Amino acid sequence: MTDRFETLTVHAGAEPDPRTGAVVPAIQMSTTFKQDGVGGLRGGFEYGRSGNPTRAALESAIVALENGTHGLAYASGLAATQNIGFLLEPGARLLMSDDVYGGTWRLADKVWRRYGITTDTVDLADLDAATAALGGEHPPRMVWIETPSNPLLKIVDISAVARLAAAAGATTVVDNTFATPYLQRPLDLGADLVVHSATKYLGGHSDVIGGLVATRSDALAERLRFHQNAAGSVPSPFDCFLVMRGMRTLAVRMDRAAANAAALAAWLESRREVSRVHYPGLASHPGAELAARQMRLPGAMLSFELAGGEVVARRFVAATRLFTLAESLGAVESLIELPAPMTHASVADSRLAVSPSLVRLSIGIEAVEDLRADLEAAFAASDA
Ligand SMILES: *Cc1c(COP(=O)(O)O)cnc(C)c1O
Repeated sequence: MTDRFETLTVHAGAEPDPRTGAVVPAIQMSTTFKQDGVGGLRGGFEYGRSGNPTRAALESAIVALENGTHGLAYASGLAATQNIGFLLEPGARLLMSDDVYGGTWRLADKVWRRYGITTDTVDLADLDAATAALGGEHPPRMVWIETPSNPLLKIVDISAVARLAAAAGATTVVDNTFATPYLQRPLDLGADLVVHSATKYLGGHSDVIGGLVATRSDALAERLRFHQNAAGSVPSPFDCFLVMRGMRTLAVRMDRAAANAAALAAWLESRREVSRVHYPGLASHPGAELAARQMRLPGAMLSFELAGGEVVARRFVAATRLFTLAESLGAVESLIELPAPMTHASVADSRLAVSPSLVRLSIGIEAVEDLRADLEAAFAASDA
């Protein structure tokens, strides 16, 4: 019997402890494990970098949520990304969505490039462009999809791109941080690897940095497991506990945050101060139809352009009371930021650069009337 997603979020990785009956997985801090004779491991655990029971519980939880067979936990989303990068050999080419998370682009462009791995960017939401990029004589080894993308919320057709990538012999990776497995399950759509910044919706409370990877491929999982240990980018047991604690409420948090986001996106679109709203739940969004097919809900991230330009945008983001001006996203509280000088500063001089008047909102689970009133007051205060 397969449980529904909401049930899985509550129960995955949380078998009551057979010895104590504890309902919540223990935070196992021990860095080493007694052997019954050389190599006689009781629970398969030997040394804390190689494996830890709390981490194993989190890893089994992401397997359940992403409908995979292997899960790996890391110290951050970028540590998870780096471990996927370890799958590439010098000389390999990588194809990325053209508005991937700034830190992902920085890692590819500033670090992997030094090791002979080159990265091309293309608008993967444009299937003709994706087909051209994947159909050449020397196809990339790996395709990196982020959907919805950050900060423009572009929607990439995961199954179409994964099919093109498979035909070209490339591994498909989907950064599923914005959608979460509640809204979209990339492995079901043909992706080989799914990666998360667990810092965002999975943790959900702005109190833990973490990364996760899930896959159905034994071969990829074996190499990732090797590098997780060899490069040591592992999360602490306490961090694993916090991510799991957040994951328990993922479905209810996402339902509420997405409903708030849909209401605010429609309201923002009606404001004269706003020249454009990017939210895949709006009929005006070019990816709306695809999002409706591929995602359970259009998510809780949105961005919009202020008609008054950069000066007004800077005043606006400093004028809210409930929306906190801060980087990051995906938690219970609403956040506001200007991507150009903040989250996307690392791509300022590249073709991934974003408009200085673009405001990004991470919608939380507060009462939507209070969030709307807060934005309304900020419009008034910033002479938008
Ligand atoms: C935050 C983020 C990352 C990086 O994750 P960290 O946990 O900050 O290392 C990667 N991808 C996306 C989409 C993100 O939002």
